[in-house]
Amino acid sequence: MRAFVIVDVQNDFCPGGSLATAQGNHVAELIGARQVSHAADYAVQVATADWHIDPGDHFSDNPDFVHSWPVHCVVGTGGAAFHSAIRENKLDAVFRKGEYSAAYSGFEGHKSDLEDQGLADWLRQTGITDIDVVGIATDYCVRATVLDAIKEGFSVRVLQPLCSPVAEDSGAAALEEMAAAGAVIVGA
Ligand SMILES: [Zn+2]
Repeated sequence: MRAFVIVDVQNDFCPGGSLATAQGNHVAELIGARQVSHAADYAVQVATADWHIDPGDHFSDNPDFVHSWPVHCVVGTGGAAFHSAIRENKLDAVFRKGEYSAAYSGFEGHKSDLEDQGLADWLRQTGITDIDVVGIATDYCVRATVLDAIKEGFSVRVLQPLCSPVAEDSGAAALEEMAAAGAVIVGA
């Protein structure tokens, strides 16, 4: 059984947000459309969310955009909310990460209403063997989520047109790295 895993499609990562990726709105629309058009392909749909309270040096007034970032996805702000194109009523579970430290992989998160359940355990309990990963950003949280998914034993496809990078070069490098690790990259 296959799951649709939507990584961090939150307002702060889309144009107008504090840490916008150029294609954020575009991929949000494509993902929201796929949640409906391909609903029958997926046993479950889940989303991850960057969910910061006080993540220490993950935030900086002088960010390097590699290890430190402008303030983003703070709990209780509109920037932490999912992009309006995401069909939240189609989501079977949401996994939040990063409350008090940087967390790039959705597999570091926990289910929003159950503190101790992580994404890998939840997917396995649901009978999932295969996942399609999409979202933001290709070169950071999508990359980390995909690499962890492979380590956890899932068969992973990355739907490249439904992923938005921070930068084109590092996005392309991340796709190569994910492919080398065993992910199938589904292109345009
Ligand atoms: Zn963050």
